Amino acid sequence: MENNEPNPKPAEAPKPAQAAPAPMHREGGPGPGPRRPGGPGGRRHFAPRRKVCRLCAEHIDLVDYKQAQIIKSFCTDTGKMLSRRITGACAKHQRQIMRAVKINRNLSLMPYN
Ligand SMILES: [Zn+2]
Repeated sequence: MENNEPNPKPAEAPKPAQAAPAPMHREGGPGPGPRRPGGPGGRRHFAPRRKVCRLCAEHIDLVDYKQAQIIKSFCTDTGKMLSRRITGACAKHQRQIMRAVKINRNLSLMPYN
């Protein structure tokens, strides 16, 4: 005697399609990318503004350690250097600022931290 109960719901609803990524490429590549544009509840639309190196815009070729005004504008009040992502400085000028900051620290014109 088989306990063959009839299914109470013969017309079983189809399962909701699970969000299977269906990996086509299994090379373990980075895929679409780790960064995701602001999800729900995140930042609102933030127009990306193209940063231009301020020193290039002002045609300042060489940043000297004596130009404290320029150097301080690329540092925090505590003496930490701001990254290029924040200041938008180009690589050339960022190097010059870095050297100037180090010289100024040696001369104790700027704090170390
Ligand atoms: Zn520049």
